[in-house]
Amino acid sequence: MAVVSRCSRAATAATTANATPATTFAYLIRSLSPFSFSSSSSTFDPQNDLNNRNKPAVLGTLKRESKGRNVQWVFLGCPGVGKGTYASRLSNLLGVPHIATGDLVRDELASSGPLSSQLKEIVTQGKLVSDEIIIDLLSKRLEAGEAKGESGFILDGFPRTVRQAEILEGVTDIDLVINLKLREEALLAKCLGRRICSECGGNYNVACIDIKAENGRPGMYMAPLPPPPQCASKLITRPDDTEEVVKQRLRIYQAMTRPVEDFYRSRGKLLEFDLPGGIPESWPKLLCALNLEDREDKQSAAA
Ligand code: ADP
Repeated sequence: MAVVSRCSRAATAATTANATPATTFAYLIRSLSPFSFSSSSSTFDPQNDLNNRNKPAVLGTLKRESKGRNVQWVFLGCPGVGKGTYASRLSNLLGVPHIATGDLVRDELASSGPLSSQLKEIVTQGKLVSDEIIIDLLSKRLEAGEAKGESGFILDGFPRTVRQAEILEGVTDIDLVINLKLREEALLAKCLGRRICSECGGNYNVACIDIKAENGRPGMYMAPLPPPPQCASKLITRPDDTEEVVKQRLRIYQAMTRPVEDFYRSRGKLLEFDLPGGIPESWPKLLCALNLEDREDKQSAAA
């Protein structure tokens, strides 16, 4: 595999008796109720601290967790920030499944299952699905993964409420929560420019974001992410990626998910990552913040 972890093989540790089998986890996550929590804090901005002079507590946690099992990470961040892109890259690199609850919801929507019409109304209005439904979908996905021998995960889109975070915290140890941040002006444009291949599910973007430097703030450029030729004629737009619905999703993020950042910050698990631009600038910096290395990416950049 093309990954070398510089933080004591955080990503590649084998399963041991310490690990919580996903089936147990899935069962527990279905049945547990919220826990209470307390506070303290740890953050890290890789843009300001690329040399890792000020490592957050979470990287220490990573080292400890690496002894027992594959990583259990969570991605937080506003709609359009790029959670799916970076979670999927890390999941390939680390060999753990990328589980996006938005995808689980869309799969359920596309099926003719009993939840389908109920979900359609909620999602197209930009609202959150109930904790019960989302936990049920996630539990089933974890059970299916366990049956295939999966271990570890990178969650994307879950938890999205403090209650979901409390339930998750009650059933398993999350090692690290990566909070992706991007300038407000880019988020809407990125959602509106998002295109998905209806066949392979690949995520692309037609938006070209070019924010000029202003009042001491640096500019930011994010090139479009074009599809490969085989996907070009199969692109679709998510029905909830309209301007009105994206604005509603951003409002809901502030109200319901922002407090989840505090929940993990207070536990010293939150790694704040300010995206400096598109994938070519951000991916190496994210790897650096995580003490990881992508040899294949380096080789293709050097070629
Ligand atoms: P976004 O691009 O806004 O981050 P996602 O693809 O993660 O969107 O999710 C799409 C939709 O699926 C959400 O707007 C919401 O309706 C539903 N959803 C996904 N994850 C959750 C969750 N953890 N809790 C409640 N609803 C969720």
